[in-house]
Amino acid sequence: MYKDLINSINVLLLLDFLFFIKLHFMSLITVGTMAFDAIETPFGKVDKIVGGSATYVAYAASNFLQPVQQISIVGYDFPEEEMNDLKSRGVQVEGVEVVPDKKSFFWSGRYHLDMNTRDTLITDLNVLADFNPVVPESYQGSEFLMLGNLMPKLQLSVINQLKVRPKLIVMDTMNFWMDIALDDLKEVLKKVDVLLVNDGEARQLSGEFSLVKAARKIMQMGPKFLIIKKGEHGALLFNENHVFFAPALPLEEVFDPTGAGDTFAGGFIGHLAKTKDISFDNMKTAIIVGSAMASFCVEKFGPEKLKEIKKEDIDARINEFVQLVNFDIDLV
Ligand code: AMP
Repeated sequence: MYKDLINSINVLLLLDFLFFIKLHFMSLITVGTMAFDAIETPFGKVDKIVGGSATYVAYAASNFLQPVQQISIVGYDFPEEEMNDLKSRGVQVEGVEVVPDKKSFFWSGRYHLDMNTRDTLITDLNVLADFNPVVPESYQGSEFLMLGNLMPKLQLSVINQLKVRPKLIVMDTMNFWMDIALDDLKEVLKKVDVLLVNDGEARQLSGEFSLVKAARKIMQMGPKFLIIKKGEHGALLFNENHVFFAPALPLEEVFDPTGAGDTFAGGFIGHLAKTKDISFDNMKTAIIVGSAMASFCVEKFGPEKLKEIKKEDIDARINEFVQLVNFDIDLV
C-alpha cells in the first residue's frame, strides 16, 4: 500500500518535472511598451487606441507558441479587457508592472501619403520615465528573448538579469533612440543575435546609403543577423555574405501601418521559437511568417485585425506569399 502511494507520488513528481521542462524550453520573453496611440493616416484618424511594441509582438507571437512572457509597464488607464484578452491568448503578465497613479506611455504619429513614412507628433513617456524592468523568477530559463522597441538601457537591463543566456536574442529599435541614446544602443547591439530596423534607421545607424554596406557595418557592431524592413517593399535578411529578400504582399487595403514592424518581429521570433531552429534557412521562413503577420496588422487600425485572425487565416496568407514568389525558369 505504501509502495503504491510512493509510486504515485513519484509519477506526479515526474509529470511536474516534465511540465516544468516543457514550459521553460518552449517559452519566449518579450519586452517593450504597452501604450495608447493616436494615429492619423490618409484613410482615417483615431485619438486613442491600444498599441505599444510589446502589445503587437505578443498578439503576433502567441499564434505560434505559448506562453509568451511579457515584460512591460502600464498606468492606471490601461484597459483591463486588453490584459484579459492577452492572457486568454497565453500571454503571461506577471512581468507587467501596473502603476496606480500614472498614465500609460502615449505615442502619436501621422503617416504621409505613401504610408511608408511617418512623423512622430508626440512621445509622452509617462510611466516609462521611471521604468525598471524586473524579470520574474518564473521567466528564467527562457530560450528566446524579443527585445521590442524600448529605451536601450532597459533592453540591456533585461539581458543582464537573465541567469542563462537565451539561445537567441532579437532586438528591435527605432530612430528615436538613435537620436537620444546612441551609446546605450551600441552597448545592447554587442549582446544581441538579430537586429531589426527599417531602411532609414539602417542608414542612420551606419552612415551608409547602400544597404549592403550599411548591413556590413551594422553586423560589425554585434548582431550576426540583420533584418532591414522596407515597408511595402518587403524585407532583407543579412548574415555574413548571404542576403535573402522577402516581399510584402500587395494589399488592396492598407489602413494603418502602426505596429507592422512589431507584428513582423512577433511572427519572426514566434516561428523560430516554435521550431527551435535558428539557422539562416529557417530565418528565411521566419521572415515570410513575419511578413504575413504584418500584412494582417495594416488592414485595420491598431491591433484589431490581429485579434480576429485564426490559424487557417495565417496558413492561407503564408501560402499567398509562396505563390507570389514561386516561379520556374528554364535557362537555355
Ligand atoms: P511600429 O509601427 O512597428 O514602429 O510600432 C509602433 C508602436 O510602437 C506604437 O504602438 C507605439 O506605441 C510604439 N512606440 C512608438 N514610439 C516608441 C518608442 N520611442 N519606444 C517604444 N515604443 C514606441
